[in-house]
Amino acid sequence: MNPYRGCFHACAYCYARPTHPYLGFGAGTDFDRQIVVKINIVERLRARLAKASWRSELIAFSGNTDCYQPLEAHYQLTRGCLEACADYATPVTIITKGTLVRRDVDVLQELRGTVGCRVAVSIPFSNDEHARAIEPFASPPSKRFETIRILAEAGIEAAVGVAPIIPGLNDEQIPEILRRARDAGAVSAFKILLRLPLEVGPIFEARLAESFPLRHRKVMNAIREARAGRLSEGRFGSRMVGQGVRWSTIDALFSAQCDRLGLEHLAGETPEPPEPPRRAGPQLPLVF
Ligand code: SF4
Repeated sequence: MNPYRGCFHACAYCYARPTHPYLGFGAGTDFDRQIVVKINIVERLRARLAKASWRSELIAFSGNTDCYQPLEAHYQLTRGCLEACADYATPVTIITKGTLVRRDVDVLQELRGTVGCRVAVSIPFSNDEHARAIEPFASPPSKRFETIRILAEAGIEAAVGVAPIIPGLNDEQIPEILRRARDAGAVSAFKILLRLPLEVGPIFEARLAESFPLRHRKVMNAIREARAGRLSEGRFGSRMVGQGVRWSTIDALFSAQCDRLGLEHLAGETPEPPEPPRRAGPQLPLVF
């Protein structure tokens, strides 16, 4: 579910950028500022969930853009969708950088107690300064660790997503990110290798050159090295893996750190909910 298209957080590496031109906007500044709000999403979702054919499949918030970007404070569409999922016993998984997820702890607790939910907080940098350069309007990592703590203390299963891993820029921060996330209460972790499809390549490279002029070339080389010479690939999800010695080293480091810290190493970028879904609600009538 993507209640919003475009994202105010404006991460330079955002793989959703090339989807904005489908809506008639640009993939650059338009993506960050021309946000499309699906104002009837809650009604449409409820209508879908009410159908007898709905089998309580897992819903991920959001596959494309952040469901807890600032506009959510006003529109409350993500919250409305979560309430609908709770009413129709539909499990959810959330991936976000937004602190606003803390507002919805009550609904998440309700989901956790019935069909299951998991919240993954995306933290690619341990350093607030680095994050500000590449993810200028997302909450700083220090706040995101705090979000994990608040969720964990409320009994919500929390994961950390080191996503994306940018070889040569943030791979050295992996141990610190995992340790701080575990200390805050995360129980699992996953990683995604940076992917720079279409318009994202030049946008990312321009931001990198501006913010890290002395590391720019080294990082671009390391990114190519981790993906056998390419900046992107069509495959996605858990199959979206890197190649070569550089990626093997990152992979081994990530796994070893997870083992050492007692974090479950999740394979894909969309963690499954901890509990299998159970259909709830009133028994449906028998119709002859
Ligand atoms: S928070 Fe997520 S959706 Fe938003 S710009 Fe960053 S990567 Fe893209």
